[in-house]
Amino acid sequence: MTKLFLHKIDLRRLILVLTIVSALVSLANTMQASYLVQSRQLIDSALESNAAYAAKLANSTNDFIEQAQQQLAYSAALLGKNFGDEAAYAAEVDRLRLQTDSFNSVMLLDSRGEVLATSPENQSIMGMTLQTPGVRAAMEEKKPAISTPYISAAGNFIVFISSPVWSPTGKYLGLIGGSIYLRQPSILNRLLASHYHKDGSYVYVVSHDHQLIYHPQSDRVGDYVQGNTVIDKIAKGLNGSEETVNSRQVPVLAGYAVVQSTGWGVVAQRPKAQTLAPIESLMQRVIFKTLPITLISLLVIWWCARQISRPLRLLANSAQSMDDTTTEDRIQTVNSWYFEAQELKRIMLLGIGLLKNNIRRLHADVHTDPLTGLGNRRSLDAALTEFQTANLPFAAVSVDIDFFKKINDTYGHDVGDQVLQSLANCLKEVCRAGDVPCRVGGEEFLILLPGTDKHAAAQMAERLRRQVEAADMPMVGNITVSLGVAHWPDDAKSIAAVLKLADDMLYQAKRGGRNRVAVFE
Ligand code: GH3
Ligand code: MG
Ligand code: MG
Repeated sequence: MTKLFLHKIDLRRLILVLTIVSALVSLANTMQASYLVQSRQLIDSALESNAAYAAKLANSTNDFIEQAQQQLAYSAALLGKNFGDEAAYAAEVDRLRLQTDSFNSVMLLDSRGEVLATSPENQSIMGMTLQTPGVRAAMEEKKPAISTPYISAAGNFIVFISSPVWSPTGKYLGLIGGSIYLRQPSILNRLLASHYHKDGSYVYVVSHDHQLIYHPQSDRVGDYVQGNTVIDKIAKGLNGSEETVNSRQVPVLAGYAVVQSTGWGVVAQRPKAQTLAPIESLMQRVIFKTLPITLISLLVIWWCARQISRPLRLLANSAQSMDDTTTEDRIQTVNSWYFEAQELKRIMLLGIGLLKNNIRRLHADVHTDPLTGLGNRRSLDAALTEFQTANLPFAAVSVDIDFFKKINDTYGHDVGDQVLQSLANCLKEVCRAGDVPCRVGGEEFLILLPGTDKHAAAQMAERLRRQVEAADMPMVGNITVSLGVAHWPDDAKSIAAVLKLADDMLYQAKRGGRNRVAVFE
């Protein structure tokens, strides 16, 4: 099936299909390679810039925390000197909150955790003994502390930064602490939110125990993040970048850095798809730029395919009608401009030449008597038709060997054949170009002499008779022939009648004693 189908496809289509396929494959290959290179570049630069951005935010956060701690330490020192002056408590917590703008609220506790002052003022917790995790941990430690996130007594999700208050004599008096809201606006999330959202990237911050401290969706603050490789790296205190997936399984390019003072991790990340989005238009531009050259080269290929296939197609068309007489000329006109076509053309012309020769030989064989090499009845008929068509007058000379049976009987059939061949040679010698000597029977011959009148024909017959009589035949010695002569159209209208007359004359010669010429008068 496929073979039959393929046999119908011509060379031009084959070349075209081949080149178009290879052009498409190489285009696809180029596109794929440049896609890979470009996407790698975009990914690498996104990873690098996210890592740098995370590191910068981690530094800023660290600076902010350290500054907040210094402010608390300053207030703690001030309060430690004047502890017991209750009017000063409120003034100091207010000053700290309003002047520095670092905290959402500030409070002073005594060594048992009882609230001595708050800013903003909150009567509902004044005098209360606080047991919140941030306060308990700080009181136990008696050191500057940053709490893990927790829900405060006032119901806010916060981190609590505190500094112990010591008396000049070194007695622990309590602590002063500031809370930073994580879900409501605060200086911390203002700091982190000042970020480039437009390209789909975002920042989040996790505590060292994987709890979200900051996230652009504030309702996620407080959630615990699980199964994230970036968070594992942060837990080990590492900075860097990597390709990973976010909590919704979206592939992202993340940069991360650790806030030294708190152990928090800042993660800046961007969905991979958004990073790679510019490539699509880039690829479109590449296709657009390569298209004209691709089209031009396809056109050139189409033209070349035509030029290459043309001589072969013309030769193939000629091959379908080798017996046509115009084929040889048509092959000659084929412009076989390259080696294979030239060879095919040469071989085809050679083949046609051989074919013609063979046909010519076959044609000659069909018209030749194999024993004597003279014409046979077929060539006689052909010549007669030709003369009649051309209305060309001719003389007919009929020839028969005398007593030939006796020669066969005496010397055998083979010698008889040799005598026939010798006689044929005599006939050939006597004939001029244009005369048609034929063997028409066993030992009977007929010579057509076109354009010859009866008188000249009679002379020629006489010449032949004498030449045969004088010739030395192998084994036999001498033979004689009898001849009859007639003319067309002088002696009869029809050619058949003239041939009959020549035969009649031959028998007349036989009857007259043989070895003679009889001419129809
Ligand atoms: P005539 O003088 O009356 O012609 O006597 P003839 O013996 O020649 O008689 P005829 O012409 O009838 O002879 C025919 C003989 O020619 C018969 C046959 O033996 C011989 N013959 C015919 N064809 C061939 C041939 O191809 N080879 C040989 N060797 N002999 C042939
Ligand atoms: Mg005879
Ligand atoms: Mg005879």
